[in-house]
Amino acid sequence: SFHDNALIVVFGASGDLASKKTFPALFGLYRENKLPKVVSIIGFARSDLSHDQFRDKVSKHLKYDKNNDDHIKKLENFLKICTYHRGSYDEAEGFQELEKSIVKFDNDNKLEVSNRLYYLALPPSVFTKVATNLKKYNYPSDSSKGSARLIVEKPFGHDLESSRQLQSELSPLWKEEELFRIDHYLGKEMVKNLLPVRFTNTFLMSCWNNQFIDCIQISFKENFGTEGRGGYFDSIGIIRDVIQNHLLQVLTILLMGKPEDFTNPESIRNEKVNLLKAIRTIDFNDVLIGQYTKSTDGSKPAYIDDETVNADSKANTFAAIALHVDNDTWKNVPIILKAGKALNDSKVEIRIQFKKSVADIYENSSRNELVFRIQPDEAMYLKMNIKLPGVPNKVSVSDLDLTYKDRYSKEFYIPEAYESLIYDALNDDHSNFVRNDELDISWALFTPLLHYLESDKGPSPELYPYGSRGPEGLHEFMKKHGYDYASNENYQWPVTTPE
Ligand code: NAP
Ligand code: NAP
Repeated sequence: SFHDNALIVVFGASGDLASKKTFPALFGLYRENKLPKVVSIIGFARSDLSHDQFRDKVSKHLKYDKNNDDHIKKLENFLKICTYHRGSYDEAEGFQELEKSIVKFDNDNKLEVSNRLYYLALPPSVFTKVATNLKKYNYPSDSSKGSARLIVEKPFGHDLESSRQLQSELSPLWKEEELFRIDHYLGKEMVKNLLPVRFTNTFLMSCWNNQFIDCIQISFKENFGTEGRGGYFDSIGIIRDVIQNHLLQVLTILLMGKPEDFTNPESIRNEKVNLLKAIRTIDFNDVLIGQYTKSTDGSKPAYIDDETVNADSKANTFAAIALHVDNDTWKNVPIILKAGKALNDSKVEIRIQFKKSVADIYENSSRNELVFRIQPDEAMYLKMNIKLPGVPNKVSVSDLDLTYKDRYSKEFYIPEAYESLIYDALNDDHSNFVRNDELDISWALFTPLLHYLESDKGPSPELYPYGSRGPEGLHEFMKKHGYDYASNENYQWPVTTPE
């Protein structure tokens, strides 16, 4: 199995994703002794690079402690197992040469079973070509003598039709069990924490429904804009970039029913699909879109100042969408997915607002709000009403706070999302990867909205200044969809000082 030996090939190894994410993740696993003992990593791309030039490129983004001898040694050894293979994505030759290298690795190590993990860090225009050539030239013909797995990255299409097209090209070649579609949010520690928290804590399990919960917000904020990459972003927009995939995945795990068997990835993914199927068609009136302009002090550029973007671009750099899940558990609970670039802060969090106590006899009491901070700095906190210390009968909002870095020492190593996912793929665990039917439903849900926004009828985005909280209409939008600001207004953190 992949436990004993693995040959990993990263396609598009000269690119941004490979150097910033894939190789650092592979190194992280190597450094933590999580890669198989017998392992080789081949970078494959068209660029003309020597092994050493390639290793230089790779080493730039690897994370290690310069004062730790073990890390230094691991770094040296890691670079030794990395080699570069130049080849084109659409010709046989490169793949035939690659096969020779793989066979040599297998023979040198006297391997009886050849385990290959192929990682496509490539633009989607070449996915199918590479997947086809790999199947033709680099796929073990006898399953008892080897296995192959294929990791693919978003974008999985541009809308429902193109996603189905890509799917129809890949599925005759690669079986669903051999495919790992990465949504890296599923590798984040706090996202992986959701199911254990939900299904082991009685007090949460009993109130995880529409009788106790009033409103849910899942929010992604970035405090920088497209910064020169607008050309890439323009045809994508924030909904495809973040909401249709990452935030929807978080929503699904947050609200799905209990899987029959937590150890069975298909059982988990079946429950996710059930939840996705219950999401109501998006009402275009439940959507707020925005685009950033110059910061109020003029120091930061507008989106359309990006040289790679047309001056009349209607691309959305901000969106808030209220969804509804029409099942018995979640009916009538608005779920607001909100994401934006060039805002006042960078963070990703979930806010769950509980219903206000019916015994509303104290002034200043607010809804309980449970917050999961996914990034940065994992934390969970529950805002709750307590008697203000020392003051008779006066209630104020305080919290039960779990901040990971305060609670867990550095010895608790939290892997990067990509590390965790590559590790899962090596262990053939599909729980945290997107299945084809999940993908299909997610595109079916968002495609009508995307097509509407991109049509002539589509509204112009509301402008908001770089560095602000988003469009001015956001506050009203949030309130209209059930978000109550009182639990924030009555809340001080970290300390409440007496007046
Ligand atoms: P990239 O740097 O543009 O492309 C990766 C490599 O692919 C390039 O170094 C280039 O290598 C080759 N390539 C580029 N354009 C090509 C073309 N038109 N035809 C054939 N080969 C081409 O892309 P990336 O940012 O690494 O992203 C790779 C994939 O992951 C994309 O699908 C992207 O959407 C997705 N993704 C990226 C990130 C990220 O952080 N960058 C995050 C999530 C998902 P050679 O010319 O040397 O062959
Ligand atoms: P918060 O950042 O104040 O945000 C709560 C909600 O109110 C968000 O929806 C936010 O909108 C909105 N909001 C905040 N200020 C606003 C304003 N001036 N105008 C309009 N809307 C506003 O979060 P919080 O949970 O109440 O916590 C307060 C602070 O304490 C935060 O900085 C938080 O990180 C910190 N805290 C940290 C920990 C911990 O590290 N363990 C624990 C508790 C609290 P946006 O979504 O647009 O921002």
